[in-house]
This record gives sequence, structure tokens and C-alpha cells, in this order.
Amino acid sequence: MKKRTHSSLSLSLPLLISMFLVSACSTSAPVEKSPISGKAALAHVKKMVSFGPHPAGSAALLKVRDYIRGELHKMGLKPSLDSFRSEKAKGIQFHNIVCKIPGTKKNEKRILLLASHYDSKKTTGHPLPEQNFRFVGANDGGSSSGLLLEVARYLKKHPLPIEVRCLWFDGEESIPFDWGEGELAMFGSKHYVKKLRAEFPKEKDLVEFVPVFILLDMVGAKDLSISMDSNSDADLIRIVAKTAQRLGYSKFFFHERTQVTDDHIPFQNYGIAVLDLIQFGGERNGTPTWWHTEGDDLTILSAKSLEIVGHTLVRSLPDVVKRFYK
Ligand SMILES: [Zn+2]
Repeated sequence: MKKRTHSSLSLSLPLLISMFLVSACSTSAPVEKSPISGKAALAHVKKMVSFGPHPAGSAALLKVRDYIRGELHKMGLKPSLDSFRSEKAKGIQFHNIVCKIPGTKKNEKRILLLASHYDSKKTTGHPLPEQNFRFVGANDGGSSSGLLLEVARYLKKHPLPIEVRCLWFDGEESIPFDWGEGELAMFGSKHYVKKLRAEFPKEKDLVEFVPVFILLDMVGAKDLSISMDSNSDADLIRIVAKTAQRLGYSKFFFHERTQVTDDHIPFQNYGIAVLDLIQFGGERNGTPTWWHTEGDDLTILSAKSLEIVGHTLVRSLPDVVKRFYK
């Protein structure tokens, strides 16, 4: 993903004030035990990292994919593959992993999307020596992919009224070292939103069937600080901020403003309300030191951070449904 400047913040002043109040009166101890296991999420990340660097099209990515699918099968879920190629990435076969978790409400066609990318950044074959190093993406790709498995496990046992579709995107990272305009990146999300468009009746806007898309990206750092992405929907941010406050996690959420281009943008382009739960610095700390470096390894992760994000996410979902799936 790519950070942009902070010039065009779309969050309103009342929201910022209410979020300040929310964080100002937060408590430190969580009010309930997390239903999401951070330890289990971290164990998934460790396994994925153990396969080594796994950029799009690599043999190692096949191993990561098989691992994710295998874990979903163990939970009694039935993931499928959305395989495709792109004119812009000759020789690469991409595979998104798609896992539907049915809702409890009969005749409900609407769905909610939860996503992560599972490819790691390609750090070989680039022109400059400093762009070539060993990169396993423990936080960038790994943390969110491991956590999404545990969120899927929870939702299988505690389904929402609507279908939740969990997505592990391939090809989020750019093929050249530098992101450029994102032309040669986000292959999985760009492809999947088009596939989704074809799945629902053309006569109606896609947003009627898919009101919400939530992305997880870089959610496991020890110094957890989820950024306030100004491309994300203000109501979704408000819901998550409120949940975090209730659970005593306010200090981990939305203290740094930034604007990111990530896998949520192709969905936003269809009018879907999007949220990117991402740690990408902002006005205080800037770019994390481990981002797109050899330092993004298991040593920067913590099970607790994964648990905090997972806990907050699953406790936010009922309010998301109330607000967006009336
Ligand atoms: Zn990245």
C-alpha cells in the first residue's frame, strides 16, 4: 500500500472532536475477554512466514495459500479460489482466496466483505541494490492474513444475520519496487470487485448488495497504533472507535491521521463504504521503520496487538450491520 499526503482529510471537525472525547475517557483494562485468540493468530503468521518470501506467482505463495485454505477447511468452511491473469503482469497467475460464511437471516442477499492481502512484497530483481533484500512481510501481509483466519473461525461459530465473505487477496504489492500510481499493484482487489459486480443483478448498484468492505493490513505490530485513514468511511471509523473505547482499547486506535491507497479503494470506487484498519504512521510518527524493509519480521509482532484488533473488529460488526444493513 501507499501513503499519500495529508492534504485532503475528509473527516469532519465534529467527528474529530467526538473521537478526541472518546479517547480522552478511555480506560486501560479490557471489559471482557477477547473471543479472538491473538496467540492463534500469531501462530498462523509464524507458519506463513516460515515459507519465506512469497511474492505473487512464487512457489512459496502456493504454500501460504494451501495453508490458509487448509486451516479454513479444518474449521468446516469451504474456501474457493478466484484465479486470474492480468495483461499488466505477464507470466503471473494470481489466486484470491474466497471464503463465504453464511448469515442467519433467510433470503438476505447482502454481504459484508472482510479482506487481507497474503502476498509479500517482491524484493528481488529490482534495479537498485537497496531494493533487493529478504522480505517476509510478517506484519505487511502476514499479520492481517493470520488474524482473518481467527476472525473467520469466530464468525463460523457466531454468524451475523448477513453473509460475511472473507477474502485473501493476491497481488496487492506492486511489481516494481516503487508503488508508482498503483497501476501495477492491487491486482487481486481490482479483479475481485469486477467479479463481484458480475455476481449481482446489473440493474442495481453493487453497493445495494455490498454496502461495506473492511480491510485489515499491518495489524500486529508491538507498538500498535491503527491510523485514521481519511479514505475510510467516517461512520465505520466512528463505530470502531466507539467499540475500542468500550473495550478499553482507545489508545490503540485512530490517533494518527493519514491517507492510504490500499485494497479498499477499488471497492470505494463502486460507492461501497470502506474501512482500512492499518498501521501506517501519520503526522506524529510517519512511516513505520519496518515498513518494506528486512525488519518486517516476527520480532516486531505481538499476539496482544493481533488480539486487540480482532476483538475490536468482531465486537464492531453487529453495529456495522445495524447501521449499514437496515
Ligand atoms: Zn506492503
